[in-house]
Amino acid sequence: RPLLEARDLVACVKENGQEILSGVNLTIREGEIHALMGQNGSGKSTLMKMELYFVSLYTVNLDQPRSNGVDLLFPPINVVLAGHPEYEVTGGTVLFKGENLIDMEPEERSLAGLFMSFQAPVEIPGVNNYDFLLMALNARREKKGLPALEPLQVYPIIEEKVNALNMNAEILNRAVNEGFSGGERKRNEILQLSVLGADLALLDEIDSGLDVDALEYVAKAVNGILTPNSSLMMITHYQRLLDLIKPSYVHIMEKGKIVKTGDRALANYIDESGYKAIATA
Ligand code: ADP
Ligand code: MG
Ligand code: MG
Repeated sequence: RPLLEARDLVACVKENGQEILSGVNLTIREGEIHALMGQNGSGKSTLMKMELYFVSLYTVNLDQPRSNGVDLLFPPINVVLAGHPEYEVTGGTVLFKGENLIDMEPEERSLAGLFMSFQAPVEIPGVNNYDFLLMALNARREKKGLPALEPLQVYPIIEEKVNALNMNAEILNRAVNEGFSGGERKRNEILQLSVLGADLALLDEIDSGLDVDALEYVAKAVNGILTPNSSLMMITHYQRLLDLIKPSYVHIMEKGKIVKTGDRALANYIDESGYKAIATA
């Protein structure tokens, strides 16, 4: 069954109308792992942020006063931020589980089972990392009609996942990503994913900035949340990640379009020959 279907998706930067996505077609079915590759600036991150649109764990309304962390956590909602939508869909369709994703608010997308880890995760000053995870988890439980969990009930579960990622449990006491190193931020994204789960997880260069050992912990955690019904799309420039999380499909993006789709062999070919070898006119 298709989980996500993008058809002829066109998206522009709101501010100046510049077209970034120029007709993207992509189908992700249950149980599939997709890798998205392509030169810098080809539109990969925009596709994830946009079409898949601003999938945020929760939304922080950046127009709200920021006197303290509680003010930042807007409605009863769930989780983080991505800022305001910078982009506008000007053509095409995106369905997630058969529903029009473009009409959904970021938090609706999140609660519907989409998860995105950002290429550059932001700091959320004043919002405690542990509270953040707990709120996001309880928002999902509420949506399923399950009772909220108390902080002490959840701690052992989260601590186990922190340990599995070889992180220091002390990061739970700090504000989300505040003062975290690049590698800690990336692992913190995967901590969110492993606590919350996802039907479709989108990982934007999760491997950049991670040392070899950290990458193994991350890959293990990601493989651990995959089920026969869940799917993954990862943006990467590196073979090492694809050795650890094996893609069923590899897509190459160029100038706002997916210009080639293949299997793992395509990634190997790019590694040896570069993107210029498949460049289209
Ligand atoms: P990739 O992730 O493939 O490296 P991006 O999706 O981040 O590429 O960006 C694609 C192109 O769109 C780049 O040229 C980038 O500068 C441009 N772009 C993305 N977002 C914006 C924005 N908000 N304003 C202006 N240009 C943008
Ligand atoms: Mg880039
Ligand atoms: Mg990018």
